[in-house]
Amino acid sequence: MQTLKTNKKSIKRSLEWLERAKKVIPSCTQTFSKGPSQFVQGVAPIYLDRGLGSHVFDVDGNEYIDYAVALGPVILGYCYPRINQAIIRQLEKGITFTQMHPLEVEVAELIVKYNPSAEMVRFGKNGSDATTGAIRAARAFTGREKIACGGYHGWHDWFIASTTRNLGVPEFNKGLIHTFSYNNLEQLEKIFSENKNQIAAVILEPSTFEEPKDNFLQKVKDLAHKNGALLIFDEVVTGFKIGMSGVQGYYKVIPDLTCLGKALANGMPLSAVAGSRDIMKIFDKVFYSFTFGGEALSLVAAQETILELSEKKVHDYLWKMGQILKDGYNQLAKKKGLEGITECKGLAPRTLITWKDQGPELDALSLKSLFQQECIKGGVLFTGVQHMTFSHTQEDIQKTLAVFEDAMEVMKNALRNGSAEKYLEGKRVEAIFRKLE
Ligand code: PMP
Repeated sequence: MQTLKTNKKSIKRSLEWLERAKKVIPSCTQTFSKGPSQFVQGVAPIYLDRGLGSHVFDVDGNEYIDYAVALGPVILGYCYPRINQAIIRQLEKGITFTQMHPLEVEVAELIVKYNPSAEMVRFGKNGSDATTGAIRAARAFTGREKIACGGYHGWHDWFIASTTRNLGVPEFNKGLIHTFSYNNLEQLEKIFSENKNQIAAVILEPSTFEEPKDNFLQKVKDLAHKNGALLIFDEVVTGFKIGMSGVQGYYKVIPDLTCLGKALANGMPLSAVAGSRDIMKIFDKVFYSFTFGGEALSLVAAQETILELSEKKVHDYLWKMGQILKDGYNQLAKKKGLEGITECKGLAPRTLITWKDQGPELDALSLKSLFQQECIKGGVLFTGVQHMTFSHTQEDIQKTLAVFEDAMEVMKNALRNGSAEKYLEGKRVEAIFRKLE
């Protein structure tokens, strides 16, 4: 395996942009997970200029292999020719119109073709549009107000009320949302028994980075239906990523409603709520309507993305490459004596690398920060989550594993000396949500 020299990169221009942003943009970011606090400050790039395939280039001209790919949307690759050309063709005809566009029908038909839960579809822009639309539809359909949720579902009041970043969210929302953990059926049973005939829907991310245990997803579905609630799968991340039919197709548990987003349009802003006709017809009456819902550039990108995913059997590739990266990482961890401290887990097209708390100066976030620092110095833009794209090459994976190996060497030294902080050349990564007790 090749070994790479890890060099601290110049981030001078990134820092200049940051200084300008501080004056005009609160927290300097539109997306907390992309903001400066999520990367080792002083080491990591802050502003990206462009992307090509699986690589991104920062404003200082440094090149990185990117696995976060804009937090998941870029499934084919940056500037993927088929998608770019389709967008340009549509651009010359118009972006968004006064009436509907046939692309709305065509893309809805494609989603119906591939998503097992879908007979009808409504579009949105962000994942939060889709989840919030699904929740409103479920409340309207059942005549109930309360929600059980297991996952992250976006920025709207109904969900954010359940988190620690709930400033500005009216208090009453808290009483309407109850959270449960993945694979914890007892928690969900308790929610139902304490809120009899009040739960409109159970919404969850059907795949976290854990395998569902003991038929968990089917049991959640049965429990929801037994209690007259709808089951909503939030497949904003996993839809069209794990396979053409998403996690529901993979585990063969079909929800009443599905939320799609991210990978749907290779980076263009598009999301969707889909479901059975009898439930989706409630959207005739529910208010779910916005100016850019049928915007054509995103729809044409979705059309071509879905066709490309299907024609090229992209998911076979994502599974194969993701597995090489995942196995490679776990083998390296074993070889370096880091087994049990770090792990790469999850379904191969989308994996998570975790570091476990090892003591006061070796807490999980400090360890992650140090590992990120070393990866970035080696040319890998590490965030913890690896989304495989159709543009990641064998060479990318081999280079990444070489960078991981070098980074693990530094981690070993930090662990031996009882401090990750001592090895950090910048400010460590911060948590977006405080840990709930
Ligand atoms: N659901 C899930 C599972 C998500 O991961 C996200 C975003 N990370 C959302 C919903 C919200 O999507 P958006 O940020 O596009 O509103």
